[in-house]
Amino acid sequence: MFGPTADATLEVPERYFTLESYDGGTARWCPGCGDFAILSAVQRICRDQQVPPERLAMVSGIGCSSRFPHYMHAYGFHGLHGRALPVACGIKARRPDLTVWVATGDGDCCSIGAGHWLHAARYNMDMVVMIFDNSVYGLTKKQSSPTTPLGMSTNTHPQGALLPPLNVAETTLGFPNVSFVARTLDWNPGHLYQTLVTAAKHKGTSFVHILQRCPTYTPDVFEDLRRDPERILLLTHPEGVPAEEVAVKQYRNRLEHDPRDLAEARRLAGGHGEKMAIGLLYRNPDAPRYDNQSKVGLGKSREEKLAAIERELDRFVI
Ligand code: SF4
Repeated sequence: MFGPTADATLEVPERYFTLESYDGGTARWCPGCGDFAILSAVQRICRDQQVPPERLAMVSGIGCSSRFPHYMHAYGFHGLHGRALPVACGIKARRPDLTVWVATGDGDCCSIGAGHWLHAARYNMDMVVMIFDNSVYGLTKKQSSPTTPLGMSTNTHPQGALLPPLNVAETTLGFPNVSFVARTLDWNPGHLYQTLVTAAKHKGTSFVHILQRCPTYTPDVFEDLRRDPERILLLTHPEGVPAEEVAVKQYRNRLEHDPRDLAEARRLAGGHGEKMAIGLLYRNPDAPRYDNQSKVGLGKSREEKLAAIERELDRFVI
């Protein structure tokens, strides 16, 4: 016999969100771009956690990754270059009930936005910050970014990038009051998904450094990592990113790493031993959060606040 038995009760929730509930405009990244995998992972998380689209705010700056809000059915703010983080902090300050995600890139966040990057870590407001690292400015067609490998030819440095690249995860781990740093790869959907789920659960600013393929301008930059799983070091820990066996069994190099150990997190993020560590590098659930502190407010009623403003203004009456 097929179908529910006669005495079964079928509870249908008033609203149920499917993956399509989070579909925005048609994504117009280049074929094979790693951004598609990240978009799919975020939509899957929203569906799995049943986040109502009207409770979701996607914020970005400028760049290929920053087109993200257009492709999600949610509140979106496609901001100015490097300015995603202060916008996201402002949203979180006024609407703490919203789930806030930030999509930014190595060019957007780590160059013109670097000051905001540091202070967002220090403010530690509750949001997920995805740093899409493709080692180049893709939207403006292959200029050197802060993470371009030394010697790689770009349109701004045809003879090869002149400076050693900045390490996104290692740099973030140097910021005051940083509370969460993880690293993942766009070409392993299971690890990408689990890392973002772990980030979304953390209460504070969760920075996720995502190695993101750009087949148009930096097709070779992650190829050795992609082809040779021996170069990956999978970080494991009961409090870290859950290792989905199917997704990560190709990574045989594993290390039990306690995410409370900041010094070891920095060492691992720096790539010592020439392996690329992926997983949860650092987490401090006790780091103070600006949104927690500021929502306490002044403890005064609206009328008392208005009266105080009037008193202040009266001081300037001529
Ligand atoms: Fe993706 Fe690179 Fe194309 Fe930008 S230029 S959409 S990062 S493949």
